[in-house]
Amino acid sequence: MTQRGKRTNLVHGGTRRSQWNEVSEAIFLTQGFVYDTAEQAEARFLKTGPDEFIYARYGNPTVAMFEERMALLEGAEDGFACASGMAAVNGALCSMLKAGDHVVAARALFGSCLYILEDILTRYGVEVTFVDGTDLEQWQAALRPDTKVAFFESMANPTLELVDIEGVSRLAHAVGALVVVDNVFSTPVYSKAISQGADIVVYSTTKHVDGQGRCLGGVILGRTEHIRGVVEPYMKHTGGSMSPFNAWVMLKGLETIELRVRAQSEGALAIANATEGHAKLTRMIYPGVESHAQYDLAQRQLGNGGTMLALELKGGKEAAFRFLNALEIIVISNNLGDAKSIATHPATTTHQRLSDEQRAGLGISDGLVRLSVGIEDPADLVADIMSALDVA
Ligand SMILES: *Cc1c(COP(=O)(O)O)cnc(C)c1O
Repeated sequence: MTQRGKRTNLVHGGTRRSQWNEVSEAIFLTQGFVYDTAEQAEARFLKTGPDEFIYARYGNPTVAMFEERMALLEGAEDGFACASGMAAVNGALCSMLKAGDHVVAARALFGSCLYILEDILTRYGVEVTFVDGTDLEQWQAALRPDTKVAFFESMANPTLELVDIEGVSRLAHAVGALVVVDNVFSTPVYSKAISQGADIVVYSTTKHVDGQGRCLGGVILGRTEHIRGVVEPYMKHTGGSMSPFNAWVMLKGLETIELRVRAQSEGALAIANATEGHAKLTRMIYPGVESHAQYDLAQRQLGNGGTMLALELKGGKEAAFRFLNALEIIVISNNLGDAKSIATHPATTTHQRLSDEQRAGLGISDGLVRLSVGIEDPADLVADIMSALDVA
């Protein structure tokens, strides 16, 4: 078959049709599968071939469609679908680490990712060194011959600093470590993480893949040998598999993800251009404008600034709250990647539990507001933000 384009794969990739030849992908809402004979059951437990299923915790036709479509989008050989983004992060790390192993991780992490690295892995005898993910010299200094994994979020939450996937991969591979990237903020649409050196790419599909705020989901992508040999045994025996219903929602999300993410990025760029240098702001952070310190890296790594943006208001928490409460289209919530634009105040919500020093170290000030830009008309979003800034 000739190589098909991204949008064609997003609509048709991985499709399996039943004997009814349905147009829309079916939800196989079944945990089990009937065998024609006892011999067939015995043979399948011995070895499952392609599209042979035993139990939904191990695999399911709807989930298999989602895994294949997702792998096509990422340019990965294979994938395993998980119950949530955190099941995917946990599975990607725990499936390959053991007591005595060493991990190097970027410090700027989603709270639950930090919990896995700082609390869970260390409890089981894994040593973790944290570095400033943007500083390749710190990665170089922390990586050791016994380092098994380098882990980072390619674009950090909520200050949108980029980690150089190519640079970290080169250093990590030199000591024989595997590179695991939590790629949520970069989106699977713009990601080239595998060709840039990542060994395993993880997504919370709760975000842009669903894209309409309905279901939790996650996926671990990588080489077939690793996904089927290392990840699958861990996931299928520990219970973090994706439900067939959620896989169906995610499949439908993938059909439109390219269109949505492109519209979201256009909106984000419009907001960035409109708010840059605004008198009520100390900072506007968007990696897709030339004034951003990592503009070149964003262009090289993603070819785009993405769907997220941060505004830092003069006047701290009071000004940020006045701004948030004055928004009329953009909703206050904490999800991201949704069709609806969402504003978050990290210091009092997602990053509330961090100490003042930790927040300061990550650049999360009281005036910082994170925006996940949706697919509404950019002009309406700009107008909403401008009038809310007037009130702030
Ligand atoms: C949301 C998110 C997760 C966790 O995903 P869930 O689906 O909520 O479990 C992990 N990493 C990043 C960067 C996220 O944004």
